[in-house]
Amino acid sequence: KQANIGVIGVAPMGSNLALNIESRGYTVAVWNRTGSKTKRFVQKNAGKNLIATYSLQDLVKTIKKPRNIVMMIKAGKPTDIVINNLIPLLDKGDTLIDGGNTPFKDTIARNKKLDKSGINFIGMGVSGGTSGARFGPALMPGGQYSAYKNIKPILDKIAAKTPDGRPTEIYCGPNGAGHYVKMVHNGIEYADEELIGETYTILRHLCGLDVDKIAAIFKKWNKGELDSYLIDIFANLLAKKDKKGTPVIDIILDEAENKGTGKWSSEDALNLGVPQSIITEAVYARFVSMLKEERAAAKKVLNGPSKDEMVKPTADVVENCRKALYFGKVISYAQGFEQLRFASKYYNWNYHFDQIAVDWEAGCIIRAKLLQPIEQAFKKNPKLPNLLLDPYFAGVANKYQDAARKISALAMRNGVAIPCFSSAVSYFDEYRTPLSPNAACIQMMRDTFGDHGVFFRNDIHRQGTRLHLSDLENSDK
Ligand code: NDP
Repeated sequence: KQANIGVIGVAPMGSNLALNIESRGYTVAVWNRTGSKTKRFVQKNAGKNLIATYSLQDLVKTIKKPRNIVMMIKAGKPTDIVINNLIPLLDKGDTLIDGGNTPFKDTIARNKKLDKSGINFIGMGVSGGTSGARFGPALMPGGQYSAYKNIKPILDKIAAKTPDGRPTEIYCGPNGAGHYVKMVHNGIEYADEELIGETYTILRHLCGLDVDKIAAIFKKWNKGELDSYLIDIFANLLAKKDKKGTPVIDIILDEAENKGTGKWSSEDALNLGVPQSIITEAVYARFVSMLKEERAAAKKVLNGPSKDEMVKPTADVVENCRKALYFGKVISYAQGFEQLRFASKYYNWNYHFDQIAVDWEAGCIIRAKLLQPIEQAFKKNPKLPNLLLDPYFAGVANKYQDAARKISALAMRNGVAIPCFSSAVSYFDEYRTPLSPNAACIQMMRDTFGDHGVFFRNDIHRQGTRLHLSDLENSDK
């Protein structure tokens, strides 16, 4: 019997993805480095159209040509090892799909390398965790378009569906375009999670609300414009208690780990010169959280403000928290899409931003109602430089900025860290300021010590001559 497709890796993601594909009417050949795991997986799912293979030769022989093989394995060296072992076994026109969390530059390099042997290479972001993989992930493929077209019917079937029935899989562009979209998705995920955490900290530790009340508040928020997967799971997680009835959030270690994807997003934003302050602050916040012992030592020598009375959790304060959270989210998505715009130009990917929004509307970790107006904004204006310039989002930001300021000020006055809220407000103020006195200050200093020069204020396209402060001292302009 021949398989329609192969899956490499039967760890949590690969096994669930294989079952998802099989459940849509395909025969799936599976291979895993440790053969006993392949055996166990196929035995556990006896009766399903799964074919266990115990060598890469076997796997390749079992799949119909042109072959499609999805790799769901540890990113990095393992991926290279498997690719190098597969190259001599594959034929021209076959397609390898890397569904792991791979850095996009590795995908660009692998795509180029395999293309030389006529083998297609698709880097495909997969989001939605293990249950997404099993029942409907968001898929972000990038690579040769013809290879994508060939596998599209399968992707359409296995992907999640938006509320109006569209599959959350879009062709992102050539080579690393798909893994880049997944990287920014993960960066936004970091920001979303940190913003939720900051909101919780304000409600719990500044307003003194108990965990159950906060869970109810998040549940209610999830019925409105904040409706999203992360708010939904967070409300449910707050309700979790141990055997003694203590909220789980009070007994788990307060260290937030990371696997690097948020950091990659910030790194490339820095490389491209695009502001990405919220994701970056969220990455830093995780780093600071890992300094648990230092934080405890610092507490003994560093003072906070003399604490205000507990802030009364009036309906106004709670509503301002909701607005501040939505404001923070809007700014972080605005930065995320602006990064995608810069990347699209720099790497020649020709992204369709409305389609990326569709891709994130269901199945992925950042799925949220907010993505629907984002889709509309880019549909109306595909060249929109920043979401904040879209009339709908400008309206939201203008309406909610006051609440974001109030909540940020309250937290700062009382010594509660809010790196993402405060950077959202600062970015909003920087972005809406046509005249930046601090930038003028910096440029003057640069010219003085580094001879870098300055331009006249009205020369915004820098078509005039680069001048020096000494030239300007006697200028009458
Ligand atoms: P892991 O990332 O833990 O990877 C385990 C798999 O990698 C196993 O099949 C393992 O084989 C294989 N592997 C490790 N080293 C090698 C090697 N040298 N040669 C061949 N195979 C090797 O599994 P997950 O299922 O969690 O994730 C798979 C991929 O999907 C990763 O890239 C991950 O980043 C990505 N991903 C994960 C998500 C999640 O929620 N977990 C979400 C989205 C993407 P063996 O059994 O022999 O050790």
